[in-house]
Amino acid sequence: MKTTPIIGLEVHVELKTKSKMFCGCSADHFHVEANTHTCPVCLGLPGALPIPNKTACEWCIKLGLALGCSVNEESFFERKNYFYPDLAKGYQITQLQKPFTINGKINIDGHIIRINRAHMEEDTGKSVHIEASTLLDFNRSGVPLVEIVSEPDLISAEEAKKYLNKLQQIIRYIGVSDADIEKGSMRCEPTVNVKIETDSGEVVYTPLAEIKNVASLTGVMNAINFEIKRQIDAYQSDGIAKNSTNKTTRGWDADKNLTFLQREKEGSADYRYFPEPDIPPISFTKEQIAAIRATLPELPEEKIKRYQALKLSDYDATLLADDLVFSTAFEKALDSSTDPDFAKFIANLLNGAIRTALNETQSKIDINKIIPAHFKDIYSKKSELSSTAIKQLILESYNSGTDPLIFAKENSLFQVSDTDALEIFAKEVIAANPKAVEGYHKNPASIGFLIGQLMKVSKGSANPQVAKTILEKILN
Ligand SMILES: [Zn+2]
Repeated sequence: MKTTPIIGLEVHVELKTKSKMFCGCSADHFHVEANTHTCPVCLGLPGALPIPNKTACEWCIKLGLALGCSVNEESFFERKNYFYPDLAKGYQITQLQKPFTINGKINIDGHIIRINRAHMEEDTGKSVHIEASTLLDFNRSGVPLVEIVSEPDLISAEEAKKYLNKLQQIIRYIGVSDADIEKGSMRCEPTVNVKIETDSGEVVYTPLAEIKNVASLTGVMNAINFEIKRQIDAYQSDGIAKNSTNKTTRGWDADKNLTFLQREKEGSADYRYFPEPDIPPISFTKEQIAAIRATLPELPEEKIKRYQALKLSDYDATLLADDLVFSTAFEKALDSSTDPDFAKFIANLLNGAIRTALNETQSKIDINKIIPAHFKDIYSKKSELSSTAIKQLILESYNSGTDPLIFAKENSLFQVSDTDALEIFAKEVIAANPKAVEGYHKNPASIGFLIGQLMKVSKGSANPQVAKTILEKILN
């Protein structure tokens, strides 16, 4: 029996516009007193009329373009009708037949994941459960949401994670949302089923499950893995999954690490979709779309290619491009230089010493503390500095703006490469260690000990390469 998971992801992203999708209320609902950002429109009071947020519509299109989607020149909003306490109007304004953008793709290590659509809609309010009561907070009601729906092209939980990371990265690059899963500004609902090829060559599919309430990236992976196993087990024990088209909605219980049946899935007909009568269709001209496209920044993939052209390793290029602030720091330090050695030097320091120091204090990189002249100065003297000294100097520069060359001089960090000075050290070490000298003549590889002694005598100031050459010259 051969099994292949079929995974799709529906991702909701809250846009960080100033105001909500269809009214002027503030869209910022984190840590705000309940029901203070509300008005007749987002409370769904009778007679209140929605006016679409232009910035939100443009950002949705910008996001679609960043995902390689094409833009529908004619779109319209629709009402999705259902009853739930946090949905004051009794319907959500969304897009079904004519979304703003369609047919994009994301490349995960060479595997193309198709994107069905990125459409515009509004968020619901929030139910807050306190002991036996449920309270409602409508601050989130009407916050702009973009829903990004992938085709079921993902084949593992690991790949789903990579997809979400990449999506998050693109969204943050273009700056339309924080895309923070833990905070709820990015929410994912995986849909999972499994293609089973039996030993007799028969092909069957397990019923599709849509998983709700997944609130972390680890949760997404665990829920997908649990669901794949559950569906295969269910098929093996009762076989009822055969070519079933039943869809179910399942909840994710992060504490028990399992999914549970919530309800048989509604089809779109159950939501009685119809065009929103209070908002006319929206059209975008080719010029308007081109103008939005022109606001797109360089995206991560293009940036990685540009870094690789600077001869950075795949590792360094990806790590730098992963984080927009880090890559900005890299480019600031590079200061338009096209010297691959200098680029590599900076990448090593940023991805090494500086990243390690930031991780230790759990802080984020501060662009203002990157001083391009200091990187250049240290680079110009790198042959006279040990790798430890180089790291120390860049951290001094980053943490306190210290001039690295003055610091190096004052703290005797420059290595002595002067042959005459090193010869004096070498002779002293040879005279003091006759046994080691004897050892060297039997086994030249043991010269390491004598170099170590020389470094000690010179108080760490000797250039170890030059010291080695001089020791060898005298000993032979
Ligand atoms: Zn409002």
